[in-house]
Amino acid sequence: MNREFADRVTRIEPSATVAVSNLASQLEADGVDVVDLSVGEPDFPTPDVVVEAAKDAMDAGHTGYAPSKGIPELRAEIVDRLGERGLPYDEDQIIVTPGGKQGLFEVFQALVDEGSEVVLLDPAWVSYEAMAKIAGGDLTRVDLTDHEFQLEPALDDLAEAVSDDTQLLVVNSPSNPTGAVYSDAALEGVRDLAVEHDITVISDEIYDRITYDGVKATSLGSLDGMEDRTVTLNGFSKAYSMTGWRLGYIAAPDDIVDEAGKLQSHSVTCATNFVQHAGVTALRECDEFVAEMRDAFADRREMLADLFADHDVDVPVGDGAFYMMVPVDDDDQQWCEDAIQEAHVAMVPGSAFGAPGYARLSYAASEERLREAVERLAENDFL
Ligand code: PMP
Ligand code: GLU
Repeated sequence: MNREFADRVTRIEPSATVAVSNLASQLEADGVDVVDLSVGEPDFPTPDVVVEAAKDAMDAGHTGYAPSKGIPELRAEIVDRLGERGLPYDEDQIIVTPGGKQGLFEVFQALVDEGSEVVLLDPAWVSYEAMAKIAGGDLTRVDLTDHEFQLEPALDDLAEAVSDDTQLLVVNSPSNPTGAVYSDAALEGVRDLAVEHDITVISDEIYDRITYDGVKATSLGSLDGMEDRTVTLNGFSKAYSMTGWRLGYIAAPDDIVDEAGKLQSHSVTCATNFVQHAGVTALRECDEFVAEMRDAFADRREMLADLFADHDVDVPVGDGAFYMMVPVDDDDQQWCEDAIQEAHVAMVPGSAFGAPGYARLSYAASEERLREAVERLAENDFL
């Protein structure tokens, strides 16, 4: 049969992060011991209290559909959490989604039309590009690579990139894949441009609880002038090690919530009911868990920086998230393929994030495995 597919799928590739992780799993299934530093997934089990809360919720019969925008208890808890970050959303402005990814997808679909301009800060997480393209958007990319991945020194470039025609700008601090946390001055620069050109901004804050050395990631929507133009994205995957539970949320101005809410109601209907109940417990009872995990990541980050320095590799180390961009060959795609096949170390090519010449490493793995990875890379002449 001669089947034709829609442009919206033929113009995108599968997620590179997920693809490398699948390849690593495939090799492992074949008996190869792969140090998988590809996918961004905390290596800690979900806290017991959260697991128990999900079981209790199932026992209590919370197994049917939930309200499409989320159960009231969870939305109330999210509003409190956002309030602590200086964000004045109310419960009607929250949509609880099955993973932050779904929330982002709905926002792109709601705001981006064929030919709409979407601005990304490179390197940028792989799925923003795909989501923009699926919606038919045209991408403008601002490169932060020459500025050690910081936004502040690139504000002039951003000012040149945006215009009254810009429909959407995506800011992700702490950043995947660089770990960069943008300064307040940088975010104020974004605010000024967004106000000047009347741009809606997605602030992806999924790593907001994972920052180091006392650095805090300011929430863009908390700045004066941003209230009516910011979509704040967050979720449970990273902070509470709940990747497989699929739970996240968007907080947005009423009109965006109305339009994105239509998409949610016609697609996934709602996030899983008992998972939402577990989410309430995560927000209420897991601050200590988050702090312990963050401390472990902080130690690994320091250890890795030292190990790379021992091999004369200068890796820019960000103040948040759990990723590093390791400078590699210009052909980062080939480098990553060879690294997985020869050194059995899985990392994601930087070009998938708009930063060729780098490989992204996730340090959500034990110190022992991270040390093993650097040793294998060095032994096989990858460093
Ligand atoms: N934003 C960023 C920057 C991410 O790294 C991820 C990780 N997948 C997400 C959003 C979405 O995560 P999830 O769908 O698991 O909530
Ligand atoms: N966000 C994580 C990553 O970048 C999980 C995989 C994905 O959703 O892309 O590796």
